[in-house]
Amino acid sequence: NRTILLASRPQGKPTLETFQFEDRERPTPSKGQVVLKTLYVSVDPYMRGRMSDAKSYIPPFEVGQPISGGVVAEVVESQHPELSVGTVVTGNLPWQEYSLSDGKGLTPVPTDGPPISYYLGILGMPGLTAYFGLLDICRPKEGETVVVSGAAGAVGSVVGQLAKIKGARVVGTAGSDEKVAYLKELGFDEAINYKTTPDIAQALADACPDGVDCYFDNVGGEITDAVYNLLNTHARIALCGQISTYNAEETPVGPRPEGKLLKTSSMLQGFIVSNYAERFPEGVRELTQWVEQGKLTFEETITEGFDQIPTAFLGLFTGENTGKALVKVADR
Ligand code: NDP
Repeated sequence: NRTILLASRPQGKPTLETFQFEDRERPTPSKGQVVLKTLYVSVDPYMRGRMSDAKSYIPPFEVGQPISGGVVAEVVESQHPELSVGTVVTGNLPWQEYSLSDGKGLTPVPTDGPPISYYLGILGMPGLTAYFGLLDICRPKEGETVVVSGAAGAVGSVVGQLAKIKGARVVGTAGSDEKVAYLKELGFDEAINYKTTPDIAQALADACPDGVDCYFDNVGGEITDAVYNLLNTHARIALCGQISTYNAEETPVGPRPEGKLLKTSSMLQGFIVSNYAERFPEGVRELTQWVEQGKLTFEETITEGFDQIPTAFLGLFTGENTGKALVKVADR
């Protein structure tokens, strides 16, 4: 029963040395407990924050303890009154092949609908982040211009499609030509490869001739600086993530955006998806409908094998994934 521990707190970029594999005994359930076989593990950018001990909205991982996160797992032994063998669940579980649980925090997922891995992506945390961040904070109106950074990722690809459903003009930034082509397939009006564009500010200005009404920010840094220069009056910004700075050892200094926000009467709101926990059932219901109607599509980059979890996590910072980055650990 392999498990992955946090070996040490990374300074700057995490490496394979950040992680330590350990073999533990496979657990046996007592009354009220289940043993879960891990099927899919989600690797997410926010986990970088938990590797540091800086104060945040969620406690840090402890050095020498298992790393945990979103997992889809199957009940393989049960002493629990409601969770029978064969039930597939999602929950926050350790990076471990078999885990013990008392069932708290586990959500059973249907196995006769969309792929079960979607409950870590479009029908899980990233999809809900896109849904609430865009529809509750940005509130795009028909004909408005929406910019999404990190557009080809798990959250960004859903944001762009939702903005199209709402009738907006959508512009995305991403880190490769393949991703740019993928965004066009999804219906984005313009997509920019920020890694090869010589002048991101000019490229964004060209792509947004009517300015920017909504900005869904996944990355921060220079892309965000450039978007702030294009804001229209009463623009709305959902500050979702800042992945370009997660490995920075010192707080990066950039142009101060406050003047832009003031002059345009723009609204900037940071948010954490769990702020919307009470509305998750609504979000999952709506997203499921759009997926079933074919109005939303979703890409997954699935790496195979428990031992590949650290590599898949590190790949988030070099843009290896299109759509949701997942690791498949076992078959059902
Ligand atoms: P993604 O699937 O988008 O994966 C991360 C992507 O970020 C990579 O594929 C890469 O794509 C891009 N990236 C990596 N480094 C940089 C960089 N230096 N500059 C620009 N882009 C970079 O991850 P998620 O969809 O899961 O998350 C997207 C963002 O949303 C993250 O910032 C995350 O922290 C945040 N988030 C926030 C939540 C909240 O509650 N507020 C909840 C979930 C996510 P590319 O090839 O384009 O560079």
